[in-house]
Amino acid sequence: MPSENLAITWRRLPERYRLIGNSCENCKTNYFPNRKLCPKCRRKGKLMQKQFSGKGTVYSFTEVATGPAGFELESPYVLAIVELEEGPKITAQVVGISGKEVKIGDSVELLFRKIMEDSPEGLIHYGYKFRLVRKN
Ligand SMILES: [Zn+2]
Repeated sequence: MPSENLAITWRRLPERYRLIGNSCENCKTNYFPNRKLCPKCRRKGKLMQKQFSGKGTVYSFTEVATGPAGFELESPYVLAIVELEEGPKITAQVVGISGKEVKIGDSVELLFRKIMEDSPEGLIHYGYKFRLVRKN
C-alpha cells in the first residue's frame, strides 16, 4: 500500500475524542466512523451509537519516512490500518516501535494522546494512536 495515500487518509480523519461509531440493529454491522445510513439495510437499518473498545489487530502498515507538516519530529513513524475487534478498520499511528518490529496480525490497543498543539489559540488536535500489546 502506498504510504502517501495512508498519510493523506490519516490527516483527513475527523477529530474525535473517543472511538464512537455506530452499529446497525438490523444486520449487526459496526461502523466507524459512523454512518447516517446502513449501506446494507438502507431504510430497514437502525443505527445506534456504539463505543468501540480500542482493541484491534494490525491489518496493514507502512513506515512513513517523512511525516506531514507538523509531524517531522516524529519521523519515521509507523502508520497502520487497524482492524478493530468490532470489525471496522481505521488508520492510525502505532507508537513506540519501528516498522521492523510490527507484523500483520499483531494485537494493538488505543492510546489517546495529544498529537499536535497550535498556538496561540490553543487549538489542540487529537488523533488516534495505538501501541502494540505484547503477549507474554
Ligand atoms: Zn444494517
